[in-house]
Parts: sequence; C-alpha cells; structure tokens
Amino acid sequence: MAGNTKIEWATDSDNFQAGCTKARNPDGTVAAECVHCYAESWSANLARMAATRGAPSRYQGVVTDGGRWTGVINAETDKLQRIFSGLRNARRTRSPLFLGSMTDNFHEDTPAEVLDVYAEELAHLDDRIAANKCPPHWIAQLTKRPGVLLEWQRKHFPLGTPRCFAPGVTCGHSSSVWRVRELAQVLALGPRMVSAEPLLGAIADDLQPYMHRIGWIVAGGESGPNARPMHPDWARGLRDQCEIASVPFFFKQWGEWSDVGDAHDLAERGYRRQGNERVVNLAGGHGFHGTDPRVMARVGKRRAGRLLDGRTHDEFPEVTS
Ligand code: SF4
Repeated sequence: MAGNTKIEWATDSDNFQAGCTKARNPDGTVAAECVHCYAESWSANLARMAATRGAPSRYQGVVTDGGRWTGVINAETDKLQRIFSGLRNARRTRSPLFLGSMTDNFHEDTPAEVLDVYAEELAHLDDRIAANKCPPHWIAQLTKRPGVLLEWQRKHFPLGTPRCFAPGVTCGHSSSVWRVRELAQVLALGPRMVSAEPLLGAIADDLQPYMHRIGWIVAGGESGPNARPMHPDWARGLRDQCEIASVPFFFKQWGEWSDVGDAHDLAERGYRRQGNERVVNLAGGHGFHGTDPRVMARVGKRRAGRLLDGRTHDEFPEVTS
C-alpha cells in the first residue's frame, strides 16, 4: 500500500507518544507478544538519533543505555493535534492509519489529559468525515491494555467510539484471549480489531465465542533476531474461523520462518534437517512429539513472504461514516 509505512495492513503509521513497559497478564506474567518487542530496540536507536540526527525528542529517556524500557512515557499533545489537523486537511485518505506503532497509547501511565485530547480530536474528525469535509480516514488503534481502553470509551464515548476509529487488541497466544474478551465489551461504531501478531499458538477456537464482536483480524509471524516460528495451522485456523464468521482476514507475513513440511514425512523420506531449521508442533512445543510437527526453516522475512496456501489474504473491514 502506498504510504509512509512498511506495515502491510496500514497505509500510514504515526506516533504522538514514546515509551512503554512490557504488558502483563492478569496472573502477573509478561505478555507473550511483548517478549521480543521491536519498539524497544527501535526506540533506543531513535533516542540516539534524537541527539544527533533530528529524531523526535520524545524518545529520549524512554530506554536505558542497555536498550530496555525505563518506564518513562513521553506523550506530546501538540504532535497528537498535528496528526489530526493533517487528517482533517488531507486531500486523500490515509487509511488505515496505525496510530501508536512504537508504544501503547493506552498504557497505564499515558496522561489522562492526553487521552482526553485524543477523544476530542477523534470526535471532531468523525464529524468532519460525516459532513464530507475531509476524506474518510480511519484509525487503527492497538493496545495490550484493554482495561484502559474500555474505561476511556465509557468516559468519552458512552454510545460507542466513533466510526473512524477501530479499537483493537493484540492476541497471539491463548494466554492473551482475556484481551479479546475485554475488547468485546468496548462499545464501538467502527470495527473492533484483533492483531494476532506475533502469532505464537493455536487461538482460533479460543476466539470463536467472540467472533461476532470482531470486525477484523490481522495475523502474522514474528520478525527479528529472536523470532519464534509460527506453525502454519495456527494461521490457517484463524483464516478459517474468519471465513465461517464472515470476518475480514489479513495475513501480514510469515515472519522469519518458512514451512518446509511435515516432520514425520520428511524423516521417512530420509530428509536431513539443516542448521537453520526447527521443528514446531501444534501445541507450540519443539521436537517430533505432539500433534502435526512441522519443519520450519529460518529463511528471513523477505524470503518467507506472505503467501498462505499459495495466496495472499488481504481483506479489510468496511468503514463507513
Ligand atoms: S505493549 Fe507493544 S510497545 Fe509495549 S512492550 Fe509490548 S510490544 Fe512493546
């Protein structure tokens, strides 16, 4: 898609906040999807560039010298207002706009007054779109803190978040399904979104009870130096669940790993596993035990590509003002 981002499902991405901390599950464990957070290492780079090469100053202080989140959250209201002013005055739609690709805008420490302004700007934008005074933008907003999102919705949008807003959560593992359960409670006039990225387990059956409350699912494998492989049936399960429920499905990428084949079949044919290969079974375990073990090869994101069963899956929700 043409725009300022390489994120396959978005046209643009933008940020008015920097900083985060790894999200926690209700039992206190770190969210599986946060373990290899890309924003943490990118923020470290941007913090260095802020001093010398003009990257935004909000990245300073959000990561330690060792490249770990400090817990400092720097939110810039003026940047937030500039983003929305740009949308109101744009000639073409920038949709979907992924807002908050480097942070979690609904972090527990995001200042309440910033979220108040966010709500005002969204309402204003929605009015302009409804009056045909600007292009029909829509904003994809992901969080791993659905409780904060829910509270914000109830405070600012008791009848539902605006049509131009797609509230969403990340859920790539069964330990994260609680987020989808909370998202389902968010009153929304736009589509509710689930990002199953990185997809780290079989979650399709767990999501089934909530499918009627979901408007879009994006799925993909993990990228980066420590990326974990995605079993192909995890992605297929989500795709098939979406088809049954008539929910648009977008397959973003395989990540670093590509499917080589059924591990038992390959072993019977005398296949000798290469050094860049790993076996993953349906339950996420490694090795030949368990159901449907597959040999996965670490070939890099570009080579792994984004075909699932020989084709792309590029569906988007319909967003109407
Ligand atoms: S919530 Fe997002 S930005 Fe924050 S640590 Fe987790 S993956 Fe990183």
